[in-house]
Amino acid sequence: MNEIIDFHQHLVLQKLSAPEERITADDEVTEELIYASAEELVKAMEENGVVQAVLHGLPNEVWCYYGNNECVAKVVKKYPDRFIGSVHIYTDEVNKSKEIIKEYVDKGFRSVKIMPPLHSCYPDDPLFSGVFELINKLKLMVLFHMGELLSGKGQEYEAKYAHPIYIEKLARLYPETTFILAHMGGIRCLEGMVGYKKGFELINKYPNVYMDCSSTTAYKVFLEWNENRTPLDFSKIMWGSDVKPSVIKERIEKIKEILTEIGLETEINKIFYQNGNELLSTQSVAE
Ligand SMILES: [Zn+2]
Repeated sequence: MNEIIDFHQHLVLQKLSAPEERITADDEVTEELIYASAEELVKAMEENGVVQAVLHGLPNEVWCYYGNNECVAKVVKKYPDRFIGSVHIYTDEVNKSKEIIKEYVDKGFRSVKIMPPLHSCYPDDPLFSGVFELINKLKLMVLFHMGELLSGKGQEYEAKYAHPIYIEKLARLYPETTFILAHMGGIRCLEGMVGYKKGFELINKYPNVYMDCSSTTAYKVFLEWNENRTPLDFSKIMWGSDVKPSVIKERIEKIKEILTEIGLETEINKIFYQNGNELLSTQSVAE
């Protein structure tokens, strides 16, 4: 089995009594629950050849069933070779975000997760430059959620804040930062402006911009790209799962099937392993 690196994963907090079900707001997040959920994830990774995953914290007030920064820190500490920690921040809280980043980088985290629709802010707003200056100084990776977004309660956030167009200025201003566009830049973002098309432009043009092909969005993006086959730098795309452990296998198989179908078999190993491995070995957090 070829080895795989996963650039977009979360800790799904699963019920101890029924590991197939995620917890609800009434369940208490105990250490036992965190470690049991992590064990499920590690087991699924082993079964599918996933040797390493970037594990992104998420805010519990939006998704009660996903591990937050503290949960991720515990899991990274227990499995340091398996997981790379990624700290979730609200960019608009500049001073608080800077403190949170420093706290988690001290715990070994190498990445930051930002979901602009959650706080209805354009990521390139000059008001948040202090946050990006720190990220750049520390040479971290940043995974931006791109495209549509639903909360755990089904509330829909405005996707206009999650369009790759708002990453371009950041990519230019902060060359030491590795920017990763989740879900290939997304599809429905701005009215009349398909996310992934701008995303492709950015990864082709800026050495510090990459994308992950996580979620079912990636299926559609690859198939749509195939209709016109515009220039695309495949060395800048990494695989991401962004699903609960039991679905990882299905996601891997489906992406491989699509890539084969559109004649990109030779890119499979690069997308699933080589590109990510190269990025991780060259990207090191500043002291
Ligand atoms: Zn995600």
